[in-house]
Amino acid sequence: MNSLSSSKFPFPFLFLFLFSFSWVASADRHEDFLQCLHSQNSNSISMVIFTPINSSYSSVLQFSLRNGRFNTGATPKPLVIVKPLNEAHIQAAIACSQKHGLQIRVRSGGHDYEGLSYVTVVPFVVIDLINMRTVTVDVGKKIAWVQAGATLGEVYYRISEKSRTLAFPGGVCPTVGSGGHISGGGHGMMMRKYGLAADHIIDVKLIDAKGRILDRASMGEDLFWAIRGGGGNTFGVVVAWKLELVTVPPTVTVFNVTRTLEQNATKLVHQWQSAIGKFDEDLFSRIFLSRVNTSQEGKTTILAAYTSLFLGGVDRLLSMMQQSFPQLGLVKEDCIEMSWIESTVYFASFPRNTSLDVLLDRSPGSTGSFKAKTDYVSVKEPIPEIALEGIWERLNQLDAQVAQLQLTAYGGKMDEISETSTPFPHRAGNLFQIHYAVFWGDQDITVDEANTTSWVQSDATQIEVYNRIGEKKYNS
Ligand SMILES: Cc1cc2nc3c(=O)[nH]c(=O)nc-3n(C[C@H](O)[C@H](O)[C@H](O)COP(=O)(O)OP(=O)(O)OC[C@H]3O[C@@H](n4cnc5c(N)ncnc54)[C@H](O)[C@@H]3O)c2cc1C
Repeated sequence: MNSLSSSKFPFPFLFLFLFSFSWVASADRHEDFLQCLHSQNSNSISMVIFTPINSSYSSVLQFSLRNGRFNTGATPKPLVIVKPLNEAHIQAAIACSQKHGLQIRVRSGGHDYEGLSYVTVVPFVVIDLINMRTVTVDVGKKIAWVQAGATLGEVYYRISEKSRTLAFPGGVCPTVGSGGHISGGGHGMMMRKYGLAADHIIDVKLIDAKGRILDRASMGEDLFWAIRGGGGNTFGVVVAWKLELVTVPPTVTVFNVTRTLEQNATKLVHQWQSAIGKFDEDLFSRIFLSRVNTSQEGKTTILAAYTSLFLGGVDRLLSMMQQSFPQLGLVKEDCIEMSWIESTVYFASFPRNTSLDVLLDRSPGSTGSFKAKTDYVSVKEPIPEIALEGIWERLNQLDAQVAQLQLTAYGGKMDEISETSTPFPHRAGNLFQIHYAVFWGDQDITVDEANTTSWVQSDATQIEVYNRIGEKKYNS
């Protein structure tokens, strides 16, 4: 018999006692925390505090919650959410959390893969920076001050309001927050030309655990190094970044072409690895790999979608592709010329001619769930063709029905930045990044969450395993 369920065993009562004690303790702590906030900041702070007794608490929590995996009844919830309007509110939240033993989670865009900006297992408060999202662009100096609560879409939009030939080399998804994204490095469609988002931080405004407002000069170069790729929620609350902007041509070219196994996808993915080294740094190149149905009877194939942004016109792109990767067979009809800002809307998967205003929309889209992780393939060890066969085999298994691999070419500017210049070390020597992800919707009862997430976690995403699977298939 399970000892914990035995009525003779005292531990269940002890457990219940401890549980209720800790619940009462948390409730007390949260009351004390609120009183502390009011005493520090009596005027405006009551407007920006949300506790579970407020009717808007759930909608405030869920508004920037981007992974349904952490939106269940079992997910621990913050005792208090503070949506600061200014630095004094953040300082008060830090001081009072320390005083009353509550952990702080900082949230900007809420896209953390593991929900780290709004979940933890100890009593906690969330500082949600959604109200601090002003973007100020200085075209002459080619810089922008970006408050951490601004999304990438807001940053791109505000830059484009002032200039169509200035840009920022950040990530693809417009609702990602600049607070978390830039703290972790941040790569996007111009990384081969300009490196990471974090490579363009010139200065910062950060509030540390003592409540001090620091900039680059006052924090010193060690801390300034650490916050440029060392991950968010670690060194303090980033209030704003001072960012160097980059120049883009008035016309860029995009394409998204697909090839199935029947259209030679295996050879093409293999050849793409040799082509990366020949790509101009104006070209960003990514392959999405997934299993797709080809018939109602359940026949499937693997689809390789080649997605690119080229910082130039279509004629130069075609001539460059002819020299570096003729096997793909790219033709003019596959390509679309547009402005850089239009390309951000295109790569966010909005239909052509969608208004740029969509970049300002941070309202929650789908509340689907996902599990993802990344890995790197070195220049010295590209994936052999046999291992690609192993990948297809793995994608064909049941638990991978909603799986996707993204292969993102490195090189170019990424090779020129030393691996120690920021905490993001994946520079020269990396051929491409592999991003493994599984997605499922809340309504998707066909997906077994445990199986699905374990697909990403397991060694099924290791190249040597693919090699073995591929060899086994080849020899059978
Ligand atoms: C749909 C989607 C698309 C993505 N696309 C890309 C992409 O193209 N390129 C790429 O590189 N990455 C991409 N990512 C990953 C994304 O950059 C990271 O998850 C990033 O940390 C999210 O930042 P956030 O502010 O939105 O998230 P949050 O969940 O708000 O924050 C993430 C982490 O940073 C901390 N943090 C947030 N704000 C601050 C702050 N102001 N001060 C201190 N710490 C803070 C949080 O506590 C948490 O630990 C994507 C993620 C998703 C879900």
